[in-house]
Amino acid sequence: MWFTIEGDRAWLLGARCPACGTVCFPPKAGPCPNPRCPAEALEETRLSRRGRVWSYTNSCYPPPEPFVAARPYTPVTLAAVELEEEGIVVLGQVKDLTVGELAVGMELELTHGALADGRPVWMWGKP
Ligand SMILES: [Zn+2]
Repeated sequence: MWFTIEGDRAWLLGARCPACGTVCFPPKAGPCPNPRCPAEALEETRLSRRGRVWSYTNSCYPPPEPFVAARPYTPVTLAAVELEEEGIVVLGQVKDLTVGELAVGMELELTHGALADGRPVWMWGKP
């Protein structure tokens, strides 16, 4: 699990080096990825819940004609969000916003929704 949900709040879980502060997401085990850092182990950390849109897109498009899709086409919006404090970009699904409503530099906040099978999942959403 790369995230945790408590009540109505969600957090992404990364790995942080206790010596130099380097943050990895998705989290990894083992030594610090910073070649100049001697630390042998990383600690689980909660990432910032807000970031700014770095890039965004629709994840898929309807198949071209004459193919007829079996179900109504529902585009999924994806955004790459930069977390300033951690210095990383996290790609995720955006909840309740279309690509037409997104802009580079816009602030988004971590929220959560449900997958098609009902399992909870983290998403980017309006702050
Ligand atoms: Zn380190």
